[in-house]
Amino acid sequence: MASLVVKAEWTILQTGGRQVPVRGVALVIDGNRIAEITETPPSDVQTIEVKGGIALPGFVNLHNHTINAPLFRGIVDDLPRSAVGESKVYSMLMPIGALAVSHLDPDELEALVSLGLLEVMKSGATTMVDQFRPRQTCILELARAWGLRLYGAPYLFSPVASIGDATVAQAASGSFEGETGLDAFNQLFDRFDQGPRGLQRVILGPHAADSCAPQLLESVNRLALARDLLVTIHLAQSQGEVDRVRRERNMGCVDYMESTGLLREGVIFAHGVHLTEEELRRVHGAGARLAHCPTVFLRGGKAPHYAHFARQGLAVGIGTDAERMDIFSQMRASGFASKQATGASQAATAADLLRAATVNGADAIRRPDLGRIEVGATADIVIVDANKPHLQPINDPIRTLVWYATAGDIDTVIVDGKPVIRSGAALGLDEAAIIRRGAGATRKAWDEARKRGHFPPEAEPIRT
Ligand SMILES: [Zn+2]
Repeated sequence: MASLVVKAEWTILQTGGRQVPVRGVALVIDGNRIAEITETPPSDVQTIEVKGGIALPGFVNLHNHTINAPLFRGIVDDLPRSAVGESKVYSMLMPIGALAVSHLDPDELEALVSLGLLEVMKSGATTMVDQFRPRQTCILELARAWGLRLYGAPYLFSPVASIGDATVAQAASGSFEGETGLDAFNQLFDRFDQGPRGLQRVILGPHAADSCAPQLLESVNRLALARDLLVTIHLAQSQGEVDRVRRERNMGCVDYMESTGLLREGVIFAHGVHLTEEELRRVHGAGARLAHCPTVFLRGGKAPHYAHFARQGLAVGIGTDAERMDIFSQMRASGFASKQATGASQAATAADLLRAATVNGADAIRRPDLGRIEVGATADIVIVDANKPHLQPINDPIRTLVWYATAGDIDTVIVDGKPVIRSGAALGLDEAAIIRRGAGATRKAWDEARKRGHFPPEAEPIRT
């Protein structure tokens, strides 16, 4: 029984293992499934039609921290290394993130997370893997209320005594008051996890290789295998992390993961920027997945790129890591970085990058029903309005999407068969109020960060 018809001028269909633009077809949706793809859809069913639009599978944002986008917007950009030391993550980002969760009252924290989540909702990501502090429960509540597909990974850290590096230990304890977070994980899992095909999942999110000791990672692995859950962890995101793992565990990052059981299918490593080529090949060979987040590194002067990972056989997914939660800009940045690094304009094509942001991300979370538009797939669909001067004329719709479109061009977002964005606006939400309240809460967290010395002078705005 058809419940919705979705029609655009072009639709990016999954056919024969490839994404192919097809003109003039409509998608007939039954509940949350694509039941039929046809040129003659039923006329007596609710229809969403975007004339001149391009329908594509919803993006899978494979690695994100929603709260961080508003929280660090305009304060971490352009920062010299001298202002933040070896690890911006531990010296600035984590302390401010912890502060936002501990200092803001529940309404303010919800306002901050709502601002970030509204940006995600309007980015075309219909699925997101997000790591957050367990007290930030509101992200799960908001995702449920707004109908978003969220794989939430509450952070886990080892107790301070088992973390060798003082800066890392301090950042971990500031986040957690010495708990590993496993109790909180269990509570959130019982309360929010909706099972293998549910909209909201609670998965395991140990923080990183240098903030989690073997005992915790082994517990995580056992729990994940017992409950058939995904695990995601930051890996080799800085040279400092690689050096700390070498010093404290006497091995490389991939060896360390293997020693705890986590070098396997069902594990998503975020970044892998400082893994060697041999380590990348081992990640691929073991069936683990990599979330590639280009702009958060490009902003700091490093250039991980799609072609680098593809050369070692990895089918990376794309994450935003909260630096501008716009998947279009991530695909483009990785593509440009690939071309620049290899000197080859055919490196990282639009087709490669769109597949990374959709199919590869879906496969990484064991959801072959997502990231594709085909009969039987779950109806997570985005329609870009291509009636824009920067998107016309169209030669190849996939190139138009990847090289020229932005999140601001999105007209419609459908998650699990239900529209959540129409005509570019979030249905049922007061966007202006969300923006106003979220910005206010963010400024309050910034003021407190200034008082506590987490806000480097270089982050202050230029004043006359
Ligand atoms: Zn991250």
